[in-house]
This record gives sequence, structure tokens and C-alpha cells, in this order.
Amino acid sequence: MTDVTRDCLFCGIIRGEIPARKVYEDEHTFAFEDIHPQAPTHVLVIPRKHIRGLKEAETEDAELIGRLHLVAATIGRQRGIEDGYRTVLNVGPKSGQQVFHIHVHLIGGRDLRWPPG
Ligand code: AMP
Ligand code: ZN
Repeated sequence: MTDVTRDCLFCGIIRGEIPARKVYEDEHTFAFEDIHPQAPTHVLVIPRKHIRGLKEAETEDAELIGRLHLVAATIGRQRGIEDGYRTVLNVGPKSGQQVFHIHVHLIGGRDLRWPPG
């Protein structure tokens, strides 16, 4: 385990060291309930691979980033929120990114305003 993954909150969740309410997992991805939900559905979808954020992702991560979104779509279907949800990647501190392990927010189950704040 590298220092980065040892110190990473979301790597700790994947390893089961930090409790989380798991929603979905497969070979490549893991999804769990956001601890401070902003909507009736607020799930975080993350890769098992530690990638710091979208701007640090590389070409070899393209399929994985696609998978995160497809997992979000599957959960959106399961939750019955396909009349409107949002997938969000916060990128960099000014966007509000607080956890530096790439994650797709799946937010839905209520009316969503545009543009987001
Ligand atoms: P971001 O601001 O895009 O980096 O999103 C980080 C998200 O992680 C926030 O929505 C937090 O509420 C959420 N979060 C932080 N710690 C935990 C945790 N231990 N379990 C679940 N979600 C968390
Ligand atoms: Zn990590």
C-alpha cells in the first residue's frame, strides 16, 4: 500500500476500514451513500483504483471513468429517479472537491436547479 492510498478516506472505505453504506460494488468500482446527502438520492461512485481527480486521470483511465457513469445510471434506474438526476465530478478546490480520490456524485430524487452553485 502506498502512502497515498493508506491516507485516502475513500481507499479506506474500499478496504472496509472506514464504515460506509454500500450501494453497489464490482471488480472495478464501488458505490456508497454520501454521508451528507444533498438530495433523497446522493450516492458516490468511485473506482477501486486510486485516481486523485479528473485532471489527474490518464488515457488509460478512460474506460474506468466511463464505468463510474454507467454505474450511476444503473443506480438511477434502480432508484426510479430517471425522470431527472445529475452526475457531478467536482474538480479542484474551487469546485468544492474535498476528497482527492475521483468520485462521481449521483444526485436525484428532487427537482434540481440549474446552474448549480
Ligand atoms: P467532493 O466535495 O466532491 O470532494 O465530495 C466529497 C463528498 O464525500 C462529500 O459530498 C461528502 O459529504 C462525502 N463524504 C465525506 N466523507 C464521507 C464518508 N466517510 N462517507 C461517505 N461520504 C463522505
Ligand atoms: Zn484513494
